[in-house]
Order: sequence, then C-alpha cells, then structure tokens
Amino acid sequence: MRETDVIIIGAGHNGLTCAAYLAHAGLRVKVLDRRKVAGGAAVTEEFHPGFRNSVAAYTVSLLNPKILADLKLSEHGLRIVERRAQNFLPAPDGRYLLTGEGRTRPSLASLSPRDADRLDAFNRRLEDIADVLRAFVLRAPPNLVEGFGARAFREGLNALGTANLLRQLSLEQQRTLLDLLTRSAGEMLDEVFEHDLIKALFGFDAIVGNYASPYAAGSAYVMLHHAFGEVNGKKGIWGHAIGGMGAITQAIAAAARQAGADIALDAPVREVIVERDRATGVILDNGEAIRAKYVASSVNPKLLYTRLVPSDALPSDFLAHIKNWRNASGTFRMNVALNTLPAFTALPSPGDHLTAGIILAPSLGYMDRAWQDARDHGWSRAPVIEILIPSTLDDGLAPPNQHVASLFCQHVAPELPHGASWDDHREEVADLMIATVDHYAPGFGKSVIGRQILSPLDLERQFGLLGGDIFHGALTLNQLFSARPMLGHADYRGPLKGLYHCGSGAHPGGGVTGAPGHNAARVILADHRPLFG
Ligand SMILES: Cc1cc2nc3c(=O)[nH]c(=O)nc-3n(C[C@H](O)[C@H](O)[C@H](O)COP(=O)(O)OP(=O)(O)OC[C@H]3O[C@@H](n4cnc5c(N)ncnc54)[C@H](O)[C@@H]3O)c2cc1C
Repeated sequence: MRETDVIIIGAGHNGLTCAAYLAHAGLRVKVLDRRKVAGGAAVTEEFHPGFRNSVAAYTVSLLNPKILADLKLSEHGLRIVERRAQNFLPAPDGRYLLTGEGRTRPSLASLSPRDADRLDAFNRRLEDIADVLRAFVLRAPPNLVEGFGARAFREGLNALGTANLLRQLSLEQQRTLLDLLTRSAGEMLDEVFEHDLIKALFGFDAIVGNYASPYAAGSAYVMLHHAFGEVNGKKGIWGHAIGGMGAITQAIAAAARQAGADIALDAPVREVIVERDRATGVILDNGEAIRAKYVASSVNPKLLYTRLVPSDALPSDFLAHIKNWRNASGTFRMNVALNTLPAFTALPSPGDHLTAGIILAPSLGYMDRAWQDARDHGWSRAPVIEILIPSTLDDGLAPPNQHVASLFCQHVAPELPHGASWDDHREEVADLMIATVDHYAPGFGKSVIGRQILSPLDLERQFGLLGGDIFHGALTLNQLFSARPMLGHADYRGPLKGLYHCGSGAHPGGGVTGAPGHNAARVILADHRPLFG
C-alpha cells in the first residue's frame, strides 16, 4: 500500500503550486518542508519586535496570472498593489532618474533628450521578446530525447509548436531575440543610450541574482527575465503583495490545503527511496519512511542529486553533469527596521519615490567594478544595492510612523576567497551596506533600529539555496530552456522513473512565478492518466 500518490519535497511557492494543481485533480498529495514555515524564499516574518518584512524575495511581478486565477489566490486573501513610482536612481552628483507611469520620459528627458527619444523603441523591442517568453513560461520546452519512440514523436510535436511561436516574430524581432539570449546587457545598452542612469536602470536587472558583470555575455537574458512579469494586468512593472511575499505563499498553501493537500512542516527529507530505478518515496531526518507513486522535488537540483538521491542510483553521466550545475547569485540580503523614512540628497522630501525600487548603482561601469572587486576581495567595497520600503505601501508591516526596508545587495562572492567564512564577515559587510545607503541618504544609518542579515551562507542554511543562489541555478544559456536542469530532462522528469522537478531549477527558472510547479503538475498528471494527459 502506498501512503500517498505524490510526495512533494519543499513547500516553497513552486512546491505548493504543484501540490494545489495535483490535489485539485484528485491526487493525494503530501508536501514536506524542513522549515517551520511554508513558503520557501517567499515568506514574511517578524525580524525585529513589531517589524515584519518579506525575508528573502521582496517584490512581485513574475507570478503568473493564470496561476493567480486558477488557484483563486485573491479569494485566499492575496492583494497585490502597484508601486506609486517604479524606480528611483539617485546619482552621487545630486541628479536622479524617477520612473513609472507618466514619469519615465520627462525624467529621462531632463537628463538626456536623445535617450528619451529612444526609450519607447527600446522598450518595445524588449517587450516584444518578453511576450515570447510569456508564451513559453507555461510550456515545457522541447526536450532532447534519443531514439524514435513515442517520446521522440511527442517532443517533435513540441519542437514544432515552439518553432511556430518563434515564426510569428519578424526577422528583426528574431535578431533581437538572439541578441537577448547571447549578448551582454552592457553592450546592448551602450548601443542605444548615452546617459549612465538609464543604462543603470536596465543594467541592474541584468545583474540581479547574477554574479557577473553587466558586460558578461548572457547578462542580457537576465535583464529580459526580469521583464516578463506584470502587476494586475500591467506588463513589465513590479508591485507589492500586501502582508509581504509570505501573503503569496500563504494564499497558495490555503488553495492547496482546500483541495486536500497535506503540508507537513519541520519535516526534512533525508533521502529519496529508490527501488528498481524508480523513486518510491522518501525517508525523513527522523527515520520515518513515506511511500508514494510519484516524488516531485522543488529543491535546487544539485541539492537533490548530490545529497538526497543515493549516488549509486543515478546514471554516472547524469551525476557528473549535475555536479557541475552552477549556483552563483552573489547576493546579500538585509531587512532593516527604521524609526524614520530616509531623505535622499537627490530628492530629500518624502514622496512617491520612496515607494519605488531605489537603485544605488549609478552606472554600468560601477556595476562592472563591483563585480571585479567582489571577485578579488569577496565583496564589493562600493556595492550595488536596491532598497525597497514596503511599509510606504503597506502600513501593517511596521508600527505607526516607523518603517521596514529591504536591502538587496549585489556582488558578494558566494564563497569568500582564502577560505574565509561569511560567519566572520557578515556584520562588517552589513555595516558597509548601511554606510553605502547613508552616503546617498545621510542619517539613514542612525535611523536603523533593528536589522536582519542574510549572507550567501545564511541563504543556504535557512532556505537550502546552495551558494545562496536565488534562482536554484544561474540563468545562463547552458542552464536555460531545454537545458534546465539538463539536456534530456527539460520535461520535468528526472533520470529515475517517478521522480519529477517542480522547482526553480526547472524551466522557466527562478523568481516567484509558480510556473515550474504548474508545468510539473501537468506532466505528473499526464503520466498518471496517459489517456487524458
Ligand atoms: C534574497 C532573495 C531575493 C529574491 N527576490 C525576489 C523577488 O523580489 N522577486 C521574485 O520574484 N523572486 C525573488 N527571488 C527568487 C525567488 O524567491 C525564488 O526563485 C523562488 O522563491 C524559489 O521558489 P521555489 O519554490 O522554486 O523554491 P524555494 O522557495 O527555494 O523552496 C524550496 C523549499 O525546499 C525546502 N527544502 C530544502 N531542502 C529540503 C529537504 N531536504 N527536505 C524538505 N524540504 C527542503 C526549503 O526549505 C524550501 O522551503 C529572491 C530570492 C532570494 C533568495
């Protein structure tokens, strides 16, 4: 007797999404997570008495609208609001760029009329290709299979469907697609714009969670990856989930539970049980074994295959490839409790710019140097920081007249050079981050009354994000689309029968999208009911 139909390892938003779809389809589903709270990297917690914030992921755009609607997340209490301004980029010389509906063009025109004239065409190019990505997000990419069986036939049809979608692009759009998949964001931006701040606005998206220079080949794709989302039907913008990112995962968990899924917390999986080349269940840390017809994993693929699946159960070529899976985000995350709002030298009065993503990285050169410095030194001494102050949109996060801010700091080494440990440098780097903000908003440091610090090592320990990788694996061309997590396994099926990938290490990758969970559920259902799949 099997104890359940499906075991899902990990109650991050993808594991929960997968669970919700499968439970709705009538399967018995058990989700297991090692943490005491569901939600993975998308959770809200109190980090200082009276102050709550999204602990890791902090802003929403990529969450797929079909999933929002299918799982009726608004009925489960989810409310997403727009920022009143999208981004604010102050420069050290006191100038700034402020973007958002009706704001971007005039703000840019005051810095560079030439760039303002070019902005719409550039945005259109990016948006056209973001539309292509949207069309692919909820489809399994064509999977490479050997031989000529039914699987090869099915994948042939999938490849034709993919080609058909691409065929709808004009030749010029296909050239842009190729550029965005292969080139550096820096080169593409230098070709179009002249002003540092507008290049930095787009360039920041190319290095978020990407431990690389904006001039590294492939960084243009990361820029695109951050552009395929939407908020309440408005494409390409970012917003805030009232209650923080945990409100998203609590709503998905509620949808899953309502459909009958069982979510067990504080239940770390120690091992995947493999019998006759088939995953048949899991063993928990406490020794309890749970059997199931299918096992779906939402943890980082390298973690799954190097720590949870017995290595002698895996094909040796598969194991050799997955050991080289690249995890490297280079991010350092802080949450701070503030007794007052920051006053930026470039725009000191309180206003809508304080609801924006505030980017402290005034040029592509600055970002490039930050990466170089982090490679040599372990962290950049002039770091790239995005600040978000969600309490300006959501007064439930902090006591009256006080605030919480997320600091998302880029370009720290996942592992420090010369064997140094993040445990010995966490506080020092946190001080540097605060001092960097203080440089743009004097008095910020004094306003910090509580702080939570997550170095790459802390992200790994708390969330199971290897090397602190926020996407469960770098978004490089060799780890994307049909190669995510590996050529031959892009169809959400692992190398063992009954084992599936439903987390960010599968297509379309990281971010709070829900898409890998949704797509994996579809594949599991197709295998469960082949005639109806
Ligand atoms: C600092 C940071 C900032 C980010 N900012 C944003 C943002 O603003 N917007 C955005 O869209 N995305 C953001 N991201 C990316 C996004 O949060 C992740 O890509 C996404 O949450 C991953 O979801 P997931 O469900 O695939 O995996 P996860 O959320 O990582 O969930 C995996 C789950 O597996 C569990 N687990 C691990 N090992 C075991 C085990 N042995 N047994 C049982 N359970 C286990 C973990 O506890 C975890 O709950 C950010 C990520 C980080 C870390």
